[in-house]
Amino acid sequence: MTTLVINDLHVRIDDESGHKEILKGVNLTMKTGEIHAIMGPNGTGKSTLSETIMGNPRYQVTSGDILLDGQSLLDQPVDARARAGLFLAMQYPAEIMGVTNAEFMRAAINARRPDDDPISVRDFIKELDQNLALLDMNEAMAERYLNQGFSGGEKKRNEILQLLMIKPAFAILDEIDSGLDIDAMKVVAKGVNSMRGDNFGSLIITHYQRLLDYIEPDVVHVMMGGRIVKSGDAQLAKKLEAEGYTGLRDELGLDI
Ligand code: ADP
Ligand code: MG
Ligand code: MG
Repeated sequence: MTTLVINDLHVRIDDESGHKEILKGVNLTMKTGEIHAIMGPNGTGKSTLSETIMGNPRYQVTSGDILLDGQSLLDQPVDARARAGLFLAMQYPAEIMGVTNAEFMRAAINARRPDDDPISVRDFIKELDQNLALLDMNEAMAERYLNQGFSGGEKKRNEILQLLMIKPAFAILDEIDSGLDIDAMKVVAKGVNSMRGDNFGSLIITHYQRLLDYIEPDVVHVMMGGRIVKSGDAQLAKKLEAEGYTGLRDELGLDI
């Protein structure tokens, strides 16, 4: 079992207008075997949390810690965090010219294996074919430049393909359902559910309860004003969908 602990995390971003504190003391503990969901209004810091866990240097941790099995990740760059087993499906996946999707995935898989034991071409292709079929994806997708000219839905599906190929310990999925029609969302859910098990944990960020009908979370957190203000089981997402964030603000007496 692997444990990811976010401990009183404060994060700041610098932009033209100076700097602002976005995360104001986030606490979260996740274990492999668990699926957690985070919901929350726009601009509340959900993507900031994901980028910070993964190590995007634009996001400055001013206090608190991020620990993987008790070891701080704060001084580790993105690639080291990926090797340690973290994976982020970004809200807006980047397009990368000159690197095919297959090349990218093979490099990412091999980065997590010993130098003298890269995945064989045969095994790679076998797994790739299986996962393309599972996700209802065209084989040609693997040979295209990463995300180049992919539709919004194709990008999201492709993030799940990478997830299935790379097999991280923890996957953070930032609005993986945005821009997906219901069929594509079911495919995405099928991919994530196929990863479920003792060696996999996920943090699913979503605006909509709908995705959680297909990927049932063990824990649901609500983030508002840069903090997790409430945690509960899957019922919390349903309640939120029914009552909105205003209802929760009133219930908790929050002024954010
Ligand atoms: P969410 O994902 O919950 O919608 P974000 O984490 O994207 O929220 O944003 C939280 C706040 O931080 C917003 O006010 C947003 O404008 C600001 N912010 C996020 N990323 C950046 C950035 N790279 N540069 C400047 N401001 C940012
Ligand atoms: Mg947003
Ligand atoms: Mg976001």
